Amino acid sequence: MTASSGEKIICPHCGKAHDIGEIEMAYAFPDDFFALPEAERERRGQITPDFCQLDMRFFIRAIIPVPMLDCAQPYCWGAWIEMSQEHFMIAYNTWEDDDVSYLPRLTGRLANRLHEYEASKGLIGELELREDTRPFFYVLEDSALKEDQHLGITCDDAVRYYHNVGQPLAHA
Ligand SMILES: [Zn+2]
Repeated sequence: MTASSGEKIICPHCGKAHDIGEIEMAYAFPDDFFALPEAERERRGQITPDFCQLDMRFFIRAIIPVPMLDCAQPYCWGAWIEMSQEHFMIAYNTWEDDDVSYLPRLTGRLANRLHEYEASKGLIGELELREDTRPFFYVLEDSALKEDQHLGITCDDAVRYYHNVGQPLAHA
């Protein structure tokens, strides 16, 4: 089974044609923020679609691209990255800028446990700020996720992720 950019994947699991965008999974909150009762979240933190603060912890919403070997576009996880206040402020202050290519890569830790990746929460990686999309996160720490970011997955893997969870948005 193959798919090229913008095409649909004919799913071997359910027989339907899935848009890649439709089956990608995204997390609406950092796990530690989601774990709190709502009143607690409101008292101790704040969140927007891109930024989250909890006490003195700082998070940014990023994209974790994983190449799909039989598809022109990568599979993109939507996930939160915890950063130092200093690195958070660099991203925050340049978020709307037209050119961020001069900025160094920032450091952060994955703040969600991705379905399909057992010990993924806390993995250290680099954040590449971008003008066109949310920042890209690349895992540096040895892990299954790092391996997949280097070696790639297949369209079959992507639809399997989707059907394992049963819905595109985990805890959203
Ligand atoms: Zn399906």
